[in-house]
Amino acid sequence: MSSKSVFELILSGEIESEIIYEDDDIFAINDINPVAKVHILVIPKKKIETINDLKDADVNLAGKMIMVAKELAYETGIDLTGYRLLFNTNDDAMQTVFHIHLHLIGGEKLKNI
Ligand code: 5GP
Repeated sequence: MSSKSVFELILSGEIESEIIYEDDDIFAINDINPVAKVHILVIPKKKIETINDLKDADVNLAGKMIMVAKELAYETGIDLTGYRLLFNTNDDAMQTVFHIHLHLIGGEKLKNI
């Protein structure tokens, strides 16, 4: 078992961060370094290091992450103005935390990618 990810440390309370959403499988926090007015990370409690490590058995979990992001977009009032959902994977995408997380980014006009 590799060392704990920063998100596991947040979930266990060893690193402080307000948990803005939580259920049995998933939690969400505000990104510490937001790139837009709304920047939330939707995170599975189970550590999966990268999207490459998703198994067929994780299909419901992966789908649920999108459903939670959709709900948080509604709750933060950006569902109609628009938002971006993003997974970074490995070096070229500049993934920095190796515990998958879905970025929910919006609240302002975003630059093209
Ligand atoms: P990645 O680059 O891996 O896709 O995204 C990792 C994200 O986690 C970054 O946007 C970074 O700002 C965020 N992050 C890293 N450490 C912490 C932390 O301790 N607290 C919070 N709230 N976000 C963090």
